[in-house]
Amino acid sequence: MKESAATDIRGIGVSPGVAIGKAHLLEQGQVAIPFYKLRNGAAVVAEVERFERAVAEVEKDLEAIKQKFHPELIEHAHILEAHQLILRDPQIYDQTIGLIRDQRLNAQWALKQALIKVHDLFKTVEDDYLRARVKDVDDVGQRVLRSLAGFPNGIIQEIRERVIIVARDLSPADTAQLQLERTLGLVIDMGGRTSHTSIIARSLNIPAVVATEKASRVIRSGDLVIIDGASGKVIVNPTEAQLSYYYEVQDALENYLKQIRRQAHLPARTLDGHTVRVEANIELLEEVVASRDNGAESIGLYRTEFFLLNRDHLPSEETLYNEYRELAELMAPRSVNLRTLDLGAEKMTRWAPRLDQANPALGLRAIRLCLHHKDLFKTQLRAILRAGAAAGNIRLLFPLISGVGELLQAKAVLNEVREELRSRRIPFDERMKVGIMIEVPSAVAVADLLAPEVDFFSIGTNDLIQYSLAIDRGNEHVAYLYEPLHPAVLRFIRQTVEVAHRARLPVTVCGEMAGEPLYVPILLGLKVDSMSMNPQAIPRVKNLICRSRLEDCRHFVDTILGMRTAQEIGFLLRTMVLRNFPEEFKFFDPDALTPKEIFSKA
Ligand code: PEP
Ligand code: MG
Repeated sequence: MKESAATDIRGIGVSPGVAIGKAHLLEQGQVAIPFYKLRNGAAVVAEVERFERAVAEVEKDLEAIKQKFHPELIEHAHILEAHQLILRDPQIYDQTIGLIRDQRLNAQWALKQALIKVHDLFKTVEDDYLRARVKDVDDVGQRVLRSLAGFPNGIIQEIRERVIIVARDLSPADTAQLQLERTLGLVIDMGGRTSHTSIIARSLNIPAVVATEKASRVIRSGDLVIIDGASGKVIVNPTEAQLSYYYEVQDALENYLKQIRRQAHLPARTLDGHTVRVEANIELLEEVVASRDNGAESIGLYRTEFFLLNRDHLPSEETLYNEYRELAELMAPRSVNLRTLDLGAEKMTRWAPRLDQANPALGLRAIRLCLHHKDLFKTQLRAILRAGAAAGNIRLLFPLISGVGELLQAKAVLNEVREELRSRRIPFDERMKVGIMIEVPSAVAVADLLAPEVDFFSIGTNDLIQYSLAIDRGNEHVAYLYEPLHPAVLRFIRQTVEVAHRARLPVTVCGEMAGEPLYVPILLGLKVDSMSMNPQAIPRVKNLICRSRLEDCRHFVDTILGMRTAQEIGFLLRTMVLRNFPEEFKFFDPDALTPKEIFSKA
């Protein structure tokens, strides 16, 4: 701690709460290098093969990256060609294999030794330009080391103490590896409110700030850091006064949340007697306990792809079946909406087909990917249908449906699977309800045509906002344009609900908007039947529903739907919630969902 010269960094607060602790900078690209001696000749042969496989894998990666180069930039592809040559350079390749064979060293250590030698050679080079090329050797070496370690993106599991993790970027796969008990908070240079890392941080109740752009360059491991996961403020090496202020905020927030959690098990009924279902979004089975503890009435969204992210292989049908059955049994008689795989875009696995897509969010993703890889899709559908037989509470949810044709294709595969199970006399849930995510604007436009084909709609506002406002939900540069209150978004939600209700279908909102207390009056007024959110948000949302009048919310929504900009709507909304719910927003300034200055000094 310093008496002066604290550094402030600003980002977007994506998971509220205050964390205070030592920073741990994830050196992305750097992996730990184990050392061990191989026991016998067979182990040596196996280790050489492991090294060769890793080199071949990197070679393939480099080739794939090279193919991505725009034709006009093709002359720069020589850098990658150089990297490919370095990979097989005898000074590195032969030398490493020699060390594995002669000294019985493990591949990582042997490669490290070879790289050190190359470094020494480069030091003697006169020419500045050539000397700087050692960086290429390092890059290549790191690629092979990462491949050997099996973790292409960092090594979160090696953290040994409770820290605030600082990183340039965290993939959903990295985030899914977080050790909850050792992660006090997250500070990430990239991302936005609805990038999946932010979603997981909220589910795990880890205060997080993203889109800082520079935190990983400013913060060093060991620095004392305060992060305010609501306002997006990060203070590096705080002053005494800042530290004691934030300790007080931390206490006050915890007390408030403890108090409202006590009532979270009651139904969410408005003052004028209208009940709204409040459900949980989960990514992993482990979150079921938190969902129930926080008062979730059911699982509104299980993002099944997360179970697959950190695996080398697609789990067997049996493994999936056991996972889904366990979840259903844990939640029974409450329902569980199991969404089929939403892989692609930022959620890629090591075993899934690698796709070279310039624009993955608009590419082969979610249901499209499943329809292309029918075996994968069918394996999952079989596991889901079978698991449904156990407790009868599983409902199926297809992601990213863009129109009736696609939905019919998905349903045809589902019917094939049902037929197969029937003919093999394998028990499954014959009456499992089927719903779709409404998250593509075209689905809103044809909601009346989709409705007769399904049992329920679930509006995914994260993607619906991304696609209707044409902004990448994970791109920090356009994060300011991510506006849930944009009149287009509100009209889309209203349109979907109206069409669904005419067809007597229930509608859930399961995007992050549903877990944001500020939007409760809007979603109530838009007449959604249920709201599904990260489990930690449930007590606050339920508390606000119970203190609202549905009639007032409907009038309010009628008024704001006549407005032209998100700013005008936001202003009126904030004024209203501050007046009606001063206790709730005493801690969270709805302007930026920022903790307010509840104590005299900041
Ligand atoms: C959404 O898009 O709102 C949604 C809930 O799905 P995901 O965040 O997993 O894309
Ligand atoms: Mg989505």
